[in-house]
Amino acid sequence: MKKGAQLYEGKAKKVYATEDPELLIVSYKDDATAFNGLKRGTIEGKGVINNKMSNALMRMLEKRGVPTHFVEELNDRETLVKKVSIVPLEVIIRNISAGSFAKNYGVEEGIVFDAPTIEFSYKNDALGDPLINEYHALALKLATPKEIETIKRYAFKVNEELKKFWLSSGVTLVDFKLEFGRLSDGKIVLADEISPDTCRLWDSATGKKLDKDRFRRDLGGVEDAYREIMDRLEKNIEEA
Ligand code: ADP
Ligand code: UDP
Repeated sequence: MKKGAQLYEGKAKKVYATEDPELLIVSYKDDATAFNGLKRGTIEGKGVINNKMSNALMRMLEKRGVPTHFVEELNDRETLVKKVSIVPLEVIIRNISAGSFAKNYGVEEGIVFDAPTIEFSYKNDALGDPLINEYHALALKLATPKEIETIKRYAFKVNEELKKFWLSSGVTLVDFKLEFGRLSDGKIVLADEISPDTCRLWDSATGKKLDKDRFRRDLGGVEDAYREIMDRLEKNIEEA
């Protein structure tokens, strides 16, 4: 599939048209941003890792009944995906307190919840992706009630499958962000990416952070952490 015009350049990826109007090519960059673009940097090799990890996890999720945008990995950094109209919601699932949950509700990080939580942010950079609830999403006509039900069902299913997979790799899935989109026939599929940029992943034995928090919080060893989490994935993904 030939790469056509660049349609969009985001913070972490570029998106290209193809000769098929239903397909796009996404190209993963090494650029890293945090705090709504205020902190910027480069994580050497991140694009390759996020591309391969996201594809491997989406392939696994497809096998388990979650439809995704994934079509074919084209090379180290580029993947052919189904074009969707993105539902402008960041869907966040949490198993353990961390990040904005700990900050907003005044609790320490690392509290294991009895049941996972779900929350939505309105995907709008100019507004700083504000937290909203389902009623707000409906009022803003971001999705229909049926779409929100489907998104919630898939999001919790993704959590169960990812939690199981990472546990088998000695990694605790703390929280993560998903994006969903509509295909041309209206069907909802999982889109965007699943990677250390969008998940909190802690070594189950030591608690070591193996995700973008190393960059956000200037913890050092960022590239090593991305390589380590990719090694863990590669050891286990064949059987998953
Ligand atoms: P951002 O826009 O937040 O800077 P990225 O750099 O990751 O994020 O850019 C990728 C963009 O492509 C995002 O806006 C994402 O919502 C969008 N996207 C992801 N998957 C698809 C898809 N299958 N079809 C259309 N757009 C997609
Ligand atoms: N997240 C993301 N993109 C965002 C916001 C959050 O991928 O724009 C992910 C983040 O990596 C973490 C989870 O969603 O795994 C929850 O993030 P949180 O709300 O704690 O926000 P943060 O601490 O990143 O500000």
